[in-house]
Amino acid sequence: PDVTSRYEVLGRAGSGAYADVYRGRRRSDGAAVALKEVHDAVSAQREADALLAVASESSPHVVALLDHFPGGDHDDDVLVLEWLPLDLAAVVRDGKRAGGLPAAQVKRWMLQVIEAVAACHRVGLVHRDLKPGNLLISEAGVLKVADFGQARFLQEQPTHEPEIPGAQEPERLTAADYLDEIDQLRAKSTYGDVDRMSLQDGNTSCFATCSTADIDDDPFRASYSYDAEEDMGDEESGAFTSCVGTRWFRAPELLYGSTNYGQEIDLWSLGCILAELLNLEPIFPGQSDIDQIGRIIGVLGNITEESFPGCSNLPDYNKIFFNKVEKPVGLEASITNRSASEVSMIKRLLCYDPAKRASASHLLNDPYFTEEPLPVPIAGLQVPA
Ligand code: ADP
Repeated sequence: PDVTSRYEVLGRAGSGAYADVYRGRRRSDGAAVALKEVHDAVSAQREADALLAVASESSPHVVALLDHFPGGDHDDDVLVLEWLPLDLAAVVRDGKRAGGLPAAQVKRWMLQVIEAVAACHRVGLVHRDLKPGNLLISEAGVLKVADFGQARFLQEQPTHEPEIPGAQEPERLTAADYLDEIDQLRAKSTYGDVDRMSLQDGNTSCFATCSTADIDDDPFRASYSYDAEEDMGDEESGAFTSCVGTRWFRAPELLYGSTNYGQEIDLWSLGCILAELLNLEPIFPGQSDIDQIGRIIGVLGNITEESFPGCSNLPDYNKIFFNKVEKPVGLEASITNRSASEVSMIKRLLCYDPAKRASASHLLNDPYFTEEPLPVPIAGLQVPA
């Protein structure tokens, strides 16, 4: 049976890196649906597998997969999803226009996201691309985590397996890439301190210093529509790829090239999302991977063996050096006019050491959710028009 015999296509809804999405209607009962035409069969199957696995948890906060039409050799796969016309990025934009989002509303949005992430993590899934634009919202204000195109099961990670001879190495930045990136940064006047020191070797390591001094006055502030980088894929070799997720929400271990990360990368992203709901601005809007790390350490301090045991063993840690930040801004100063429990909630997430990040299920019991003001009921949420 083909898609159009069961669903009527009503119009285009949006598109992402891997898919075009259409608004549609189920012929049997008129239900509104999203028809996601995925250009790559492997991605489509992965997304379907992920959604199917997490469906066993019956979370009301994960997008429901209603149908899957495999495309075969000649056509794209079509995933039929429940229709969710809004997203959290629009909530942030609206909040900014209104001059703020009430704390009790932020709590309800966060409860919904964290509940979904807890469900994913219970079934061994890592979403890997949590960001406001992937948190879709129904007209009734029910938030649902979507876009599982990058999600992976933890078991796919062979932590104890011997190296496979001849297996393809993960895509990794070379010294030349770093130098390119530094040159690009240097070309911008506010990055005058970014400097090339020495190139140790043609293709293995590059030494550079990157001052983060002027980043806050950056006139080149990236626009909010930064696209997720393509997952360059080393999946067949077994190891995870480090080029994952939209940069602004990417955990430090990923920025340093880790390929054996875990569910903790989603928790870092949650910290960035909460900070954004509170500030109505992205907390770390990096313009390049180096700038991303620079912005993070400018706020949270240096990434060292002390703050992140094991960091010096990460693949890219010794490729770039940052000038020591003597006085990091600190989270309190970057999340202004906010309660202690709001700041402490972010601190439980934005930990350099992945092992120290609070799990999604623990976060659900944080005093943040039981202290006044209590989360508004879903019906009390202000949903973008
Ligand atoms: P990709 O995996 O290519 O990034 P997404 O899943 O993010 O694709 O979908 C791309 C766009 O399609 C989204 O930004 C959103 O605007 C729209 N979209 C995706 N899923 C739905 C849905 N269930 N209901 C309504 N619109 C959706």
